[in-house]
Amino acid sequence: MTTIKPATSERNTFVSQRANSIAPSGIRKFFDLLASIDDVISLGVGEPDYTTPWNIREAAIYSLERGRTMYTSNIGMPELRKELSLHLEQCYGLHYNPDSELLITVGVSEALDLAMRAIINQGDQVLMGAPCYVAYPASVLLSSGEPVMIPTNEANCFELDPMHLESAITPSCKAILSGYPANPTGAVLPRKKMLQIADAARRHNLIVMSDEIYSNLVYGVEHTCFASLPGMQERTILMGGFSKAYAMTGWRIGYAAGPREIISAMTKIHQYTIMCAPTMAQVAAIEALRNGNNSMKEMVADYNRRRQLIVSGLRNIGFSCFEPKGAFYAFPNISITGLSSEIFAEKLLQEERVAVVPGTAFGQCGEGYVRCCYATSVPELEEALVRIKRFVSNHR
Ligand code: PLP
Repeated sequence: MTTIKPATSERNTFVSQRANSIAPSGIRKFFDLLASIDDVISLGVGEPDYTTPWNIREAAIYSLERGRTMYTSNIGMPELRKELSLHLEQCYGLHYNPDSELLITVGVSEALDLAMRAIINQGDQVLMGAPCYVAYPASVLLSSGEPVMIPTNEANCFELDPMHLESAITPSCKAILSGYPANPTGAVLPRKKMLQIADAARRHNLIVMSDEIYSNLVYGVEHTCFASLPGMQERTILMGGFSKAYAMTGWRIGYAAGPREIISAMTKIHQYTIMCAPTMAQVAAIEALRNGNNSMKEMVADYNRRRQLIVSGLRNIGFSCFEPKGAFYAFPNISITGLSSEIFAEKLLQEERVAVVPGTAFGQCGEGYVRCCYATSVPELEEALVRIKRFVSNHR
């Protein structure tokens, strides 16, 4: 277990201690390098290669043609909140009041930031499994909290161990941040472990912030919604979005669902900082919920084929590679090359023009791994595997 302390580098007297407390994203740094090289196959950025399904784009275009260009209610359009409430009821049997327990946000990114700012006081600890999505520790630090990283590993399928979690709980702990299916590992936490974590959260009176942005992207396993576990709806902030499942990353739309007093606190911050999520994106989200299911399922089936291709390709090259059960990332163990994650990623980009993300961008326990996003076309994946194979044979 490690507690992340604010970064001390890059100090500047004009910049706030809060901004100085976070390091630049390890992903961004890498992509600046990528931009300077031609003919790169990118397995780097975590976003679908699909464009948003036509019916969703068309709904937004039509709304613009009709002049729907004003602000909406701060908490989001009533039609969208109603549709979302129905969706959560159908998927998980959870009832959320659309007027007081749902908030439409600028992606899960905003929901995460609001959740932290609404919950965390100075020095409060937030527990999370690592490696994890780059924004998790940063969002805690920006709220003057302390991220506490609980390492997971390949041998345990990158699943957060409830016993480890429990042993890391101190009187300063306020919340558990859970993110399954997981970025960067593709792990999905089995229901049994979630029940144990839920039990610990109840006994220690902790809030669970659950990032379920990849909930629809699961392969042969079931996603369990944290809030649907017995007694958890009242202490869970469920964060979900449209970016990944409906190929809508650029629309910037997501939501938070949770207890009335927490949503109301998050809404206050949202009112002053954001006002409302983009209007046309809200219209598009309504169409996605009403009529996006078939396209989403086709994309997921395609990701599954690509997942099988990349995992078997990486294993054939000689890497040990955990079989991801969700999201769209493979997280191979690159230790056979003897290179660090960062050097591997840099050399692979320079020598073979394949972009992957060093595992260390997701926490120190990502050392020895790289993240490969397989939401890219099959021919590109096949060519990337040929190049990686050549790279490895030159570095063994
Ligand atoms: N949560 C996770 C785990 C992610 O991987 C991402 C994006 O990569 C986000 C949240 C951000 O999602 P959004 O586009 O809804 O802000």
